[in-house]
Amino acid sequence: MASSTPYTRFQTTLEKALVHLKLSSEERALFAHPRYTHKKDLTITRDNGAKVAFPAFRVQYSDARGPYKGGIRYHPLADEEEVKALAALMAIKTAVVGIPFGGAKGGIQVNPKDLSAKELQELSRAYVRAFLEHLGPDIDVPAPDVNTNPAIMAWMRDEFEKQTKSYSPAFITGKPMSFGGSLGRDTATARGGFFLIQELVDRAALDPSELKVVIQGFGNAGATMAHFLHNAGFTIVALSDSQGGIYAPEGIDPVRVEKYKRKTGAVTGEYCEGSVCDIQRMKMDGVQQVTNEQILELPCDILIPAALDNVIAEENAGRIQARIVFELANGPTTPEADILLEKKGVTVVPDVLANAGGVTVSYFEWVQGRSGEQWTAERVDSELKRVMLDAYRAVRRESHRQSLTLRDAAFSVGIRRMLDAMRARGWVNA
Ligand code: NAD
Repeated sequence: MASSTPYTRFQTTLEKALVHLKLSSEERALFAHPRYTHKKDLTITRDNGAKVAFPAFRVQYSDARGPYKGGIRYHPLADEEEVKALAALMAIKTAVVGIPFGGAKGGIQVNPKDLSAKELQELSRAYVRAFLEHLGPDIDVPAPDVNTNPAIMAWMRDEFEKQTKSYSPAFITGKPMSFGGSLGRDTATARGGFFLIQELVDRAALDPSELKVVIQGFGNAGATMAHFLHNAGFTIVALSDSQGGIYAPEGIDPVRVEKYKRKTGAVTGEYCEGSVCDIQRMKMDGVQQVTNEQILELPCDILIPAALDNVIAEENAGRIQARIVFELANGPTTPEADILLEKKGVTVVPDVLANAGGVTVSYFEWVQGRSGEQWTAERVDSELKRVMLDAYRAVRRESHRQSLTLRDAAFSVGIRRMLDAMRARGWVNA
């Protein structure tokens, strides 16, 4: 599929799932395109006085079930097609976990590492001003995504409150604890995923200590998941970040890896300085260096892509050895690879379910912002577990009922819930 884009890949997955729902052409048309695609160039003054413009996007795919909801990504490759696909996936995701939001996504085409803190703040505030009329606690609620963080969310909330002369803690989620954040938001994506893996393992009556796990990506989602699984007795056999990874069939302690990553900036930091590794020590510890391509093909029970999209594609899907692929990243498996994995009998837990813990706790943060309450960590944890397990059971039921993969079943559940809301609103004939 040479000319495929993230959005056409979403459409391929959607079409496959829609077959089972027997929608009318009028109903299908409702899912073909986002409701709104907003584009602006954001101009800021650099520290050296030069003016520079960055393309920015806010795509609002659906608000059938509630306010648009979705993160803002800062990345040199962020473009309209990518943001459209991510907005659509958000709509499916919020419907699958049954929280009263629609789906949206934002992006700025920028490498934030090239900006000073002052320039980054100016750009973030410019984003809010550019899309002000389309945003708000009851309209469209942004959040962090790749390369955006609680500090940026705080600047954005401050700019929104300034522009609208309001007190609006529910304008945005992923805020710092000192400025309206929720306990548990920082670990929510991995925590939600962990509850699902526990459920899968319990149902199959498997023993965690006999299960080998490979995780690609050692950032917020991947590293946190590594800690949860390690503490629950799973054996983490391989980990990686953008610079490559390590493989140790006898198991890796993620706390140790984290310590060296903090010190050296790399997962391989305990053994390697750049590309030069201490082979002798690696041998003694039973550790091998692996590339990000090799890590996906290692022998293991559970493979967790937690970094980039499209890493499992037609070319390598046949070599995946895991029994379960758990998509903590968004869009790590192409539609072609999905079919190959299904043929091989690999269970793929799809992104719209697997990583929905993040948006679920964002919803809890929005509720707290509106009510003025501060939930305890225990309350966040137990509500998150309930929402994730309810979603998993609904998807599993649909999968059994219609003999569908978990991805097709999740899309089916999500689309049906969106359609029910559209029918109730009178947007389509009931
Ligand atoms: P992050 O920036 O904290 O971590 C990303 C990790 O991936 C880093 O360790 C980075 O070194 C690694 N990486 C970058 N390029 C790589 C490459 N070529 N090969 C292997 N690893 C590479 O990001 P995150 O928040 O952990 O997000 C990771 C994925 O999870 C993304 O797809 C994101 O959309 C998805 N996700 C995250 C959340 C969340 O709450 N953090 C929620 C839902 C989905």
